[in-house]
Amino acid sequence: MKPFITIKEIAHLLETHEVSVSDVAQFFYKRCEKYNPELNALLEFWKPELELDELNKDGFLYGIPALIKDNTLQKGRLATAGSNMLKDYIAPYNSTIVNRVISEGGFSIGRANMDEFAMGSSGEFSAFGLTPNPWNHKHSPGGSSSGSAAAVAAGLVPWATGTETGGSIRQPASFCNLVGLLPTYGLFSRYGLIAFGSSLDRPGPLTRTVYDNALVASALSGHDPKDSTSLPEPKRDYTKKLNGKMPEDITIGVLKDALESDAVHPEIQLRFKEAIHDLEKLGVKINYISMPAFKYGISIYFILSRAEAASNLARFDGSLYGSRFTDAESLQEMYTETRERNMGAEIKRRILMGNYVLGSSQKDAYYDKAQQVRNVLLAEFLETFQEVDAIITPSTSTLPFELGKECNDTLSMYMNDYFTLPNCVTGMPGLSVPCGLSKSGLPIGLQFIGPRLSEELLYQIAYAYESNTPHHLNRPKKYDE
Ligand code: GLN
Repeated sequence: MKPFITIKEIAHLLETHEVSVSDVAQFFYKRCEKYNPELNALLEFWKPELELDELNKDGFLYGIPALIKDNTLQKGRLATAGSNMLKDYIAPYNSTIVNRVISEGGFSIGRANMDEFAMGSSGEFSAFGLTPNPWNHKHSPGGSSSGSAAAVAAGLVPWATGTETGGSIRQPASFCNLVGLLPTYGLFSRYGLIAFGSSLDRPGPLTRTVYDNALVASALSGHDPKDSTSLPEPKRDYTKKLNGKMPEDITIGVLKDALESDAVHPEIQLRFKEAIHDLEKLGVKINYISMPAFKYGISIYFILSRAEAASNLARFDGSLYGSRFTDAESLQEMYTETRERNMGAEIKRRILMGNYVLGSSQKDAYYDKAQQVRNVLLAEFLETFQEVDAIITPSTSTLPFELGKECNDTLSMYMNDYFTLPNCVTGMPGLSVPCGLSKSGLPIGLQFIGPRLSEELLYQIAYAYESNTPHHLNRPKKYDE
């Protein structure tokens, strides 16, 4: 097997009996042993404990190893969410995501590093050390799904789960030349995910190709009665319509702002224009559109995600889960010292901000206002989707951050999520695919946004784009052996 083998290719080798499932497991285990010490992408990895010959041979993921982001429960394993607060926390049950991987014939081989409680854009906020970008170790692989993205990009695993609250799948996908799906809110179950912002959180796959992504999405799809926000959707095979041809009569909207804004890196603008041209060559009609409320995505997210984080993280006080400060003389001291000692600075900033915007004297001005603007943005999206089938934007406004820089400039880090937040706060899906490299050899991503439950169409469009362009074939050379 070759280093950057795709899920589709592994499935073929298994089908023709050229390799066995234990060969596959062994291959990736060895790559993790060789490269993880320099990447710190996996907090832990193991040889699969399942009886490999008992796996479901008819499943979408038969014989395919998976890496699971460490805010997603794997029974009997640590689930730290990248935080000292949960450094000794053992998951008492499997998340639905993990159960689906197993019922579809796959298996987990590790836990992926991540920004603490999924708050961050660079992976530098993990309590367990940063993960460099396999394309260039001076740069960040993105965040918060930093370990997941770096591991897939370096070929340590064929795919990994990520989670998004606002950009954490698509931005690392873009920084690492991967395909990342933010699914429609409620499409994949969140049962067994450590919560950050409950009206926003969703898990999704990070892969090297669109086909692989659609395959994993098929495995994860289907209603889950254990999650009250899970949509009543049937299980679906998202690969069925993937033939590499652009569907007929597709109109795609391009935000004029994205082409004109100084905030978007010039090389990203260039690749974005080339992508528009490539799509036109494939028969897509491009409509230049304007969405005046798009720019509010970032402010809506900023307020709501902090408010929801403050509520969700209130449970980590030493009394129920995870770490506890045991030398306290009062209950109050136990709570405060537990939080003070075990939460990182970014988490504390967000809890403070969240409680502020929820305070009775500010709620009208911030939290309630953000909910109102969220509805305005939603209405604008729905109107736009009357005219176009999908919208494209660059996935990020900057190239992969230099490590050590943006994490000290919080505002510029927050601004990087400009293109990923509007569809996140309105529950719409987004798919990031590679669209080229910068002159310095850093990956650049293109995002397809569609209306709710348009995943099947987004995959078709993106697969046609991928099948007619070479960008997904670019690999970080260092890991090519
Ligand atoms: N960059 C986003 C943030 O820091 C990422 C959040 C996420 O999607 N988990 O809030």
